[in-house]
Amino acid sequence: LASSAISAATIPAIAQHFPLCMKHLQTTLATTHHLKHFGRLQYTLFLKGIGLSLDDAIQFWRQSFSSITDDRFNKDYRYNVRHAYGDVGGDANRRGRGYSPFSCQKILIEHHPNTGDAHGCPYRHFSVDNLTSLLQATGVTDRDVLKEVREDVGKSRYHIACNKVFEHTHKAEIKRAKDEEGWGAAELDTIVHPNTYFKRSYLLKN
Ligand code: SF4
Repeated sequence: LASSAISAATIPAIAQHFPLCMKHLQTTLATTHHLKHFGRLQYTLFLKGIGLSLDDAIQFWRQSFSSITDDRFNKDYRYNVRHAYGDVGGDANRRGRGYSPFSCQKILIEHHPNTGDAHGCPYRHFSVDNLTSLLQATGVTDRDVLKEVREDVGKSRYHIACNKVFEHTHKAEIKRAKDEEGWGAAELDTIVHPNTYFKRSYLLKN
């Protein structure tokens, strides 16, 4: 992706390409000006994975945490962003590289969210009613799709539900990519990583 497209300023606009887990983190951050530890970690690493530079990441988090002072931000939050990017701390192995963005598998299984947390996978960690509301708020209102999502979630097929929503929200673009650009099984394999969701959505819609 063109690196100029991914900056602190463009995150809110490109969030339209994010999977539901990351959309929820972005919306929570934008409305409460805060995320708890695992939410920050999940989202920082995702944004790093889509190509947000360290400088832009620090700027993004500083602007997003708008209700605290610079001092507090520098003291409590700046280090963790730099740490995620491998700019400070960590063992020699991670120095300069930092940590990898979380896969769906990791998000589904580790760090189960508690009340007040915004991290995790909405397909797995939300009640069915809250999941339906969140999907509707992001523009997924098709009753058949919502019904299929509920069925998948009921059978613990969380990432299948996520892939179904991707296919529904990119139907026209997928058809065009198949017809005109020769996209096939390789380009359209099942998404098992939030960063793949973003990349595929971005490629299809740009
Ligand atoms: Fe995010 Fe993966 Fe859950 Fe989709 S299945 S919402 S990409 S964690």
